[in-house]
Parts: sequence; C-alpha cells; structure tokens
Amino acid sequence: MTRLDSFIRRLEAQRACLNLAADRIVDLPGPVLELGLGNGRTYSHLRDLLPGRQIFVLEREVRCHPADLPDPQHLLLGDFRDTLPSAGDRLPGKTALAHADIGSGDHEATAELASWLAGALPALLAEGAWVVSDQPLPHWSLLPQPLPTEVPANRYFLYCHCSARAQRAAS
Ligand code: SAM
Repeated sequence: MTRLDSFIRRLEAQRACLNLAADRIVDLPGPVLELGLGNGRTYSHLRDLLPGRQIFVLEREVRCHPADLPDPQHLLLGDFRDTLPSAGDRLPGKTALAHADIGSGDHEATAELASWLAGALPALLAEGAWVVSDQPLPHWSLLPQPLPTEVPANRYFLYCHCSARAQRAAS
C-alpha cells in the first residue's frame, strides 16, 4: 500500500467513525470535544454533522485553514495535559462526543499521550458519550464499540463511556 493509499484510508476511516458516532449521540445532549485541530478537516466535518452543538477544540499550536478557526471561547490553546484537566470549567455540561486525533510521527510519545488521555478524558464525559480516536484509549469506563464495516480493525477506535454503575445494571 502506498503512503497515499494509507492516508486516504485513514481519512475514510475517520469520516466513517465520526459519522457513526454523531448518529449515536443525536439524543444525548452536551458539547463536543475536538482534541487536535491540525488542519481543521475533522473540525469542519464535525461542525457540518452537528450544527447545533458547541464544539470545544484543544490544540497547542493553531495551524488550521482560516475557515476552520474556532472562536476564542471555543479554543483551549495549550498542551492537552494543561488544558484538558480544567476544560470542565469552560464546558456547558458533560461531553456527548469526543474526537481525539493526536498521533504524530513519534510513536512512543503518541502512545504515552494516549495513555495519559485515556485516564484524563472520562471525567469530562457524559454517561453514554461516544469517543472516536486515532489511538487506543484503554480505560475501564470506555467500552470498545464495533467499527463501521468498511473500517479495518485498529485503524480507528470507537468507545462508549459507561460508568461502573451502568455496567453493573446491564449485566
Ligand atoms: N484532526 C486534524 C485534522 O483533521 O486536520 C488533524 C490533527 S493532527 C493529526 C494532530 C494535532 O494534535 C496537531 O495539530 C498537534 O499540534 C496536536 N497535538 C498533538 N499533541 C498535542 C498535545 N500534547 N497538546 C496539544 N495539541 C497536541
């Protein structure tokens, strides 16, 4: 597979997972978190998918297309490790959908960041929130969900946030 093929497949997987998760949270109120603005492509897609939702973006360095620059009230600028723990103070409620697209070429640093994020993110999530991620996020409250059929395993990751109490009630 060429790098072009791989890039296209990654974007197709992102889009399919975002579409699925946006559909699943239609009846769940709450804001959306976008971790990693980058060029702003997935932010643009989320805005289109979820026009009524407030979307809060976390990013350390804004380099997006000008059309996809979040307004200052919805941009938490800085390292995730500094901005995420206090993000709850800015949010109007618990998050219904979080998208983490945080990978870089440094696999070790990305894995370390994902491991930190897996521990920090659940505190901001509503019961039944969905998480879409480019990295695995192992946490007891994040239940892996089946990917859209066209997305190969481990290309993207989907989770539903479910507390221990809800997990006990379901079993
Ligand atoms: N989803 C974006 C898009 O569609 O254009 C691409 C996101 S890009 C793969 C990852 C982004 O995460 C980069 O813009 C990078 O600056 C940001 N990022 C990575 N680690 C970060 C950290 N520790 N704190 C804040 N931002 C970080």
